Amino acid sequence: MRAMVLHQQKQPLVFEQVPKPIPKEDELLIKVHTCGVCRTDLHILDGDLIATKLPLILGHEIVGTVEQVGNDVLEFKLKDRVGVPWVASTCGKCAHCLENQENLCEEGQFTGYTCNGGFAEYVVCKAGYAIALPPHISDEHAAPLMCAGLIGYRAYRLANPKKTLGIYGFGAAAHILTQIAAFEGKEVYAFTRAGDHKKQLFARKLGAVWAGDSDNPPPALLDAIIIFAPVGDLVPKALKQLKKGGRCVCGGIHMSAIPGFPYSDLWGEKSIQSVTNLTRKDAQDFFAVIKQFPIQTEVIVYPLEQANAALDALRRGKQEGAVILKIIPQKS
Ligand SMILES: [Zn+2]
Ligand SMILES: [Zn+2]
Repeated sequence: MRAMVLHQQKQPLVFEQVPKPIPKEDELLIKVHTCGVCRTDLHILDGDLIATKLPLILGHEIVGTVEQVGNDVLEFKLKDRVGVPWVASTCGKCAHCLENQENLCEEGQFTGYTCNGGFAEYVVCKAGYAIALPPHISDEHAAPLMCAGLIGYRAYRLANPKKTLGIYGFGAAAHILTQIAAFEGKEVYAFTRAGDHKKQLFARKLGAVWAGDSDNPPPALLDAIIIFAPVGDLVPKALKQLKKGGRCVCGGIHMSAIPGFPYSDLWGEKSIQSVTNLTRKDAQDFFAVIKQFPIQTEVIVYPLEQANAALDALRRGKQEGAVILKIIPQKS
């Protein structure tokens, strides 16, 4: 099969032919149609996260169809359309797994990180962790839901704003989450890089009531803030914009160091929290919510072979919405 392979961190992916994977008893073989490109892929590529498996196929926002079914699989059948998210498996036995916190599992495996992901024609996944996708969302538009959508939603539930929610970093996750928050009657305040008026306009178009530079204060203090940008400098800035009792949620897997700040900025029972991975319940809840209104994802599509260009586009951060790869079948 064709795949974009990471052989060494800090080096571009290499386009090559590799053996098609064979599903185990509890696994599915998925023919990949689309795969979103996530900032976590950049963190792995750049060495911010250590890759324990090399060579590695990145990609954990996979949409495809079931091509082969392991003998023990009951959940899916041939030709079902499924999504494959970041969490590839958990142990089911550790204290976290037993307390409905499988996102914190001590032995969690991760798609496109500790096992191969979707920057390829095929991928295998454990059937119990695949997600049945609603038919009304296309392969292109479903891909960003698989991480940006799910992680954004988990961050939103943890932030739990009464009414007003600030979002720093208006990329793929924010553009989905803004629509959900607006649907639920919340007010979204979008913070972008200074002077990025195009992005601010995009945020307003999706339902944000206010959009401005991350250096500038919003019109009033906020109930909760989510930081999707991997920039630790934003944490002290965000704390200053929170009401008493407000929560600042950091939505990424990696962030630059958080600089020191006066304790008075945390005073008033404000809190800072990270978001770590996902549970399967998050996915159920997320898809139940987006069933209720017509969610729109904006996607910029690259062919599989141009994964390096897609990663560069994400790094520049100018795109409105999500960057995805499309696996275009080869004529035989
Ligand atoms: Zn991701
Ligand atoms: Zn576990």
